[in-house]
Amino acid sequence: MCEAIINKIKQLKKEHNAVILAHNYVASELQDIADVLGDSLQLSIEASKLGAPVIVFCGVSFMAETAKILSPNSKVLLPVKTAGCPMADMATGEAVAEFRRTHPDYVLVAYVNSTAAVKAEVDICCTSANAEKIVAPIPRDKKIMFLPDRNLGRNVAKALNREMEFWPGYCPIHNAITVADVEAIKQENPGMEFLVHPECTPEVVALADKAMSTGGMLKYIRESDKQAFIVGTECGIMHRLRIENPTKTLIPFKPTPTCTDMKKLGLADVLACLEAPMENNPYEVVLDEELMDRARKPIERMLQFK
Ligand code: SF4
Repeated sequence: MCEAIINKIKQLKKEHNAVILAHNYVASELQDIADVLGDSLQLSIEASKLGAPVIVFCGVSFMAETAKILSPNSKVLLPVKTAGCPMADMATGEAVAEFRRTHPDYVLVAYVNSTAAVKAEVDICCTSANAEKIVAPIPRDKKIMFLPDRNLGRNVAKALNREMEFWPGYCPIHNAITVADVEAIKQENPGMEFLVHPECTPEVVALADKAMSTGGMLKYIRESDKQAFIVGTECGIMHRLRIENPTKTLIPFKPTPTCTDMKKLGLADVLACLEAPMENNPYEVVLDEELMDRARKPIERMLQFK
């Protein structure tokens, strides 16, 4: 059954000259058929370079919006329209525009895990991989509002030892990783290196050997001489980690961090969006041109730091 769906997807992909992008957190069956698999930064960059007429984005809505903003001439399809991000939804374009209006002296830095409407209101974007690099050159006398993720913001502020303000948003998956759970898993697995995502609280990050993006974790574990790791991020990453590191011991965090939005997508959804008529495709991400132009600027400023 799976084989038949995969063959059909391959055939339709060829017919439509489509590419499939997938985030490291989506189901393994989607990771296996992706042309590009990565984290937010990698996928943002690839989306801007590909120039494919059709992009199928296996991820959540803000990611597909970013792909559309960077590839406005491509048709970007999101296989499950309700796959969103609770953290991204914790900041709205209206609320950020109001903050901007009432706080004109602030530099607004938005994590790419934000909606297009929010990106359109800010000065620069960042990812979990480059957030420190993006914030560091902002003059120290400038006030900064970091949004929507207060945890990533607090981790950046701590690393750079600078005052910042934070939007009260957070990723429910990473925020749920507690100090007590970390202490328990470290005790059960002594000597293993503990990696976490910087969307976790600073208290959890303080207990980690390293805090890094999913792309950073993949690279670090691949290149490390160490043999055993506890992986403190969404469980979808385990699939690729195990393929790339067959001889290493890799333990997912417990309780298993699982993003239900990332897990909404399956092979049948990808097939359905490629089977739908490309004209007025119901899975297409449609954004206002003017909004896209405004949202593109802070992303491009970020990409200049690459
Ligand atoms: S893992 Fe967190 S930040 Fe990523 S899509 Fe899910 S809720 Fe949003």
